[in-house]
Amino acid sequence: MAEDDVQHPLNVTVIGAGIGGLICAIACRRKGLGVQVLEQAHEIRPVGAGIQLPPNASRILSDLSLLEQVKEVANEVKSIKARRYADGKLLASKPASTHGPCMVLHRADYHKVLLDEATRLGVNITLNAKATTVELDTGVVTLENGRTVTADVVVGGDGLWSVTRSEMLGKASEPFETGDLAYRGTFSLEQLQHFNDQRIDELCRDPAVTVWFGPSKHCVFYPVRNSTQFNLVLLRPDNLPAGARSVQGDIGEMRQTFDGWDSVLTKIISCMPTVLKWKLMHHDELEKWTNGCVALLGDACHPTLPYQAQGAAMAVEDGAIIGSLLGRLNSKLIQGVIPASLQRESISSVLRLYEKSQKRRTTTNVQGAIDNRNFYHMPDGPEQEARDLELAQHTWTEETSDHMWCDMAYNRELLGTDSINNANALFDDWLQTIVPKTRSFKETPLAERVQRVA
Ligand SMILES: Cc1cc2nc3c(=O)[nH]c(=O)nc-3n(C[C@H](O)[C@H](O)[C@H](O)COP(=O)(O)OP(=O)(O)OC[C@H]3O[C@@H](n4cnc5c(N)ncnc54)[C@H](O)[C@@H]3O)c2cc1C
Repeated sequence: MAEDDVQHPLNVTVIGAGIGGLICAIACRRKGLGVQVLEQAHEIRPVGAGIQLPPNASRILSDLSLLEQVKEVANEVKSIKARRYADGKLLASKPASTHGPCMVLHRADYHKVLLDEATRLGVNITLNAKATTVELDTGVVTLENGRTVTADVVVGGDGLWSVTRSEMLGKASEPFETGDLAYRGTFSLEQLQHFNDQRIDELCRDPAVTVWFGPSKHCVFYPVRNSTQFNLVLLRPDNLPAGARSVQGDIGEMRQTFDGWDSVLTKIISCMPTVLKWKLMHHDELEKWTNGCVALLGDACHPTLPYQAQGAAMAVEDGAIIGSLLGRLNSKLIQGVIPASLQRESISSVLRLYEKSQKRRTTTNVQGAIDNRNFYHMPDGPEQEARDLELAQHTWTEETSDHMWCDMAYNRELLGTDSINNANALFDDWLQTIVPKTRSFKETPLAERVQRVA
């Protein structure tokens, strides 16, 4: 049973059991809404290796009472360390847990926590359920097998290649290449200890995310699973054929790509027995995220380069906001503050509030990741020397910078904003505009009348 359980005037279909879709399902269910999740896969198998969970996401997990479960399977990191590609020289140590805990964990562990919680709350998850069409006015979703599913609200959490996005915009809307790709993999502590290298041992003990900055490429390394395993992501110019999404990578090619880099890094790279090679994709900012009773979240509406570790974090924010706003709407409908005749119109309005509260924020965020690409990938020369000097002198307090990575006002906005509170404030303003239209003061329940007068 959901906490805070009430009658269910609102039902939500979430398309996609990714991180964003599951958070949305949990947040809606906790507010007493009926929730079903449609997932195209035959089994839930998160792709990729590690994931960073920055403070803006961890605070939301805390609000949803999920932080403790996640902490059990995560490592908390205290800093993000930038190193020079050629020799591993430390360029900067940026504090990581400034607005809440910053964690790193294995995607499979993260997904399991979310899946277990959704199941515990009674979310109905259907696998092998690929959505093919979505009706914007009626909330009818048609599956590949011909079955239809109807709800008051449909949330498209179906990722980069979203069907819901095309349905909602009324046109095909495919993502495009960024020009970069990622190799991703994990390996064990024993493999690293085998080198008997003091710098590697220190790296393994360090509660940090380490990033090597280099010309046109960078590498990201951090611990997962209580430091018994480690995650490595290598980013470089894309050489996959057009149309390829993720393929098994060639180990020889990967090693050669980072030849001549810091010897610690090349030793670590040599531990990767197999690797996934992943084309990184983008999408232009959409003109809208919602239409009728349908809304998009996560990579379906704002895919990003993973150069700021914010893609899933933003999906978490989106899902939690949708849950909070629909929960509030649900209560007002049940209390009769908003009449049932206005239900459909109110759903559309509330989904637009979600878009209003998140769209500009995520656009800025996507731009921040693009800015980081230039910042990380500078070729050796005067610009790179100026960057390294700025990093050496930076104090990580109230400083502004031409580079978003260093700009503390930008970082505060990114990691410290209370997105749910902001969206809830928009809801309260909206409610003020709708309630006087629908109900006279005399018709208002006594307790609320007292509150309004106060
Ligand atoms: C190399 C790399 C590293 C990254 N590192 C980080 C990081 O450290 N931190 C971070 O916050 N983000 C990171 N990201 C980004 C993050 O992985 C994504 O932004 C996030 O997973 C998006 O979540 P989502 O729920 O929106 O979509 P997805 O995770 O893509 O989930 C979509 C789900 O929908 C399902 N689906 C698709 N179509 C249909 C359909 N028609 N019907 C039914 N189901 C469907 C899919 O099977 C899938 O389960 C990284 C990305 C990459 C590539």
